[in-house]
Amino acid sequence: GGATTIKPVQVKLVLLGEAAVGKSSIVLRFVNGEFQDNKEPTIGAAFLTQKCKLDDKIIKFEIWDTAGQERFHSLAPMYYRNAQAAVVVYDITKSASLEKAKAWVKELQRQANPNIVIALVGNKLDLQANREVTSEEAEEYAKESGLLFLEASAKTGESVGEIFTDIGNTVFDLA
Ligand code: GDP
Repeated sequence: GGATTIKPVQVKLVLLGEAAVGKSSIVLRFVNGEFQDNKEPTIGAAFLTQKCKLDDKIIKFEIWDTAGQERFHSLAPMYYRNAQAAVVVYDITKSASLEKAKAWVKELQRQANPNIVIALVGNKLDLQANREVTSEEAEEYAKESGLLFLEASAKTGESVGEIFTDIGNTVFDLA
């Protein structure tokens, strides 16, 4: 028998969250394995792709990284409308960013595809000393809202890969 070529399955994914919580940094860590300390903010939105292997599948993530600034809010539906997954990011050192994340989740649950897989991600886990949001409160909110939940650090890379593997497993019901 010849070798079988595995065709990648696509997952359209959108990142949402307040400006400066680390959305672009998470994507850059996942796609390029790198981190920049003084990253220029994303204007509008950026598109990147990354493949990853899960069980016998190759998943090609098509990632829309949106700008967090309020003036770009009206563009967001264009990106989440046909997304299969959303990563809603907050910064564990800023409680206000969790409130903003909750507002995004509400908007997604009202307006996005009803089957969308949503992951709530508390970023900047390397800044534990300045933590304002406990793991427990975020996890409890995620649980009652039916979201995947992870804390991660784009800076150290901790748990960044897991965000995408958890989503892939959930989208394809492999978990
Ligand atoms: P975005 O606006 O949500 O896309 O946020 P950025 O990715 O542009 O990051 C905003 C700022 O936070 C930048 O200065 C990043 O270097 C910094 N940053 C992002 N992720 C982390 C992290 O995990 N830890 C720390 N300490 N800083 C981070």
